[in-house]
Amino acid sequence: MSGLSKSPWIFHYDASSCNGCDIEVLACLTPVFDVERLGVVNTGNPKHADIFLVTGAVNEQSRSVIENLYNQMPDPKVVVAVGICAATGGIFRECYNVSGGVDKVIPVDVHVPGCAARPEAIIDGVVQALGVLEKKRTEMTAAGGGADKPMQLEKERQ
Ligand code: SF4
Repeated sequence: MSGLSKSPWIFHYDASSCNGCDIEVLACLTPVFDVERLGVVNTGNPKHADIFLVTGAVNEQSRSVIENLYNQMPDPKVVVAVGICAATGGIFRECYNVSGGVDKVIPVDVHVPGCAARPEAIIDGVVQALGVLEKKRTEMTAAGGGADKPMQLEKERQ
């Protein structure tokens, strides 16, 4: 994490979770694990976020919401699928309205295993996401599109 140029801001969405994985995500933010002391901030606005944490399987209601939230995030961005439901649909995968994992809708960069995913595994997934984020930022800069460019365009549109 020493190469970080800024603190990662996270946006969490429950796609159709049983709430087990969501409770573990919250546990990362509360005093026992307290990731905010490491600079990780949980934001309620996708336009401010670098990392998209998704729990639960994709169903017919959450599909368009996931896509919409993802498209609102500025580049570079990283998607972390938390728990087995977000990876494959998990125990809900054969339900009539479940399409499967998050990668059925948007590209997933990091998978966090578990049912429910443990806080230590979620934090490890976020640390992996930071590496992916840094790599994407470097590639964008090398391609001539500064990492801040989409954000500036977004601000100009407002
Ligand atoms: S992986 Fe397990 S705990 Fe997490 S949402 Fe699915 S069923 Fe619930």
